[in-house]
Amino acid sequence: MHIILMGPPGAGKGTQATNLVKRYGILHISTGDMFREAVKEGTPLGKEAKSYMDAGKLVPDSVTIGIVRERLSKPDCRKGFILDGFPRTVEQADALGEILKDNGLQLTAVLNINVPTEDLIERAVGRRICKSCGHSFHVKFNPTKVEGVCDDCGGETYQRADDSADTMKSRLSVYESSTRPLIEYYRKAGVYKEIDGRQDIAKVEADLSAALGA
Ligand code: ADP
Ligand code: AMP
Repeated sequence: MHIILMGPPGAGKGTQATNLVKRYGILHISTGDMFREAVKEGTPLGKEAKSYMDAGKLVPDSVTIGIVRERLSKPDCRKGFILDGFPRTVEQADALGEILKDNGLQLTAVLNINVPTEDLIERAVGRRICKSCGHSFHVKFNPTKVEGVCDDCGGETYQRADDSADTMKSRLSVYESSTRPLIEYYRKAGVYKEIDGRQDIAKVEADLSAALGA
């Protein structure tokens, strides 16, 4: 199973990817998580990515494509994967096509979680992430049982620096200009399906599983 999970920032990609990897035993590959890890470790990649992330802009395609190419060539990807947050530009989508071809892989599905723009700022601003396992919660829509403590692993939760209303405006505008065109791109490829992301988390999960034929 080789899935692309698409949708605007805050649509619920990370939340649903966590559910789907448990259900199907496949890998969750999130370029956002990879960049956040690099920032945390202070690597050269992290230093380069940080200024773009803080401004709500995309990390340049050459950098992003390079890390995905490296990741997808690792043997563990043979068990299948969900790409979350990649591709985000037509250039990235073209490169992904090449990378899959080079590794003898084919896309199973491109699933787009559709959420109206007016809901996305509230979702992002209320998002809390576990420092240890990366699980995504929401202060109102999916709160932790104990405030500030991850339900899954007991780690401490935090608010992402780029989850402010201001940075979200820039991320949403980047989504409209650079990423939304990928809907047509994949619709034409015939593997595209859309899921109503306004529903509660369990219902979105059920619709995603149904779209995957399971
Ligand atoms: P993305 O990975 O697409 O940026 P997340 O999965 O991190 O989005 O979700 C963004 C925020 O919205 C999180 O705080 C998450 O708990 C919350 N969320 C996710 N799915 C839903 C949903 N169906 N309804 C309400 N809130 C949701
Ligand atoms: P995300 O966790 O998917 O919301 O991504 C957080 C930030 O990481 C984005 O706002 C970008 O700055 C950067 N990023 C993540 N994925 C990509 C990508 N595919 N292309 C460029 N930048 C990315």
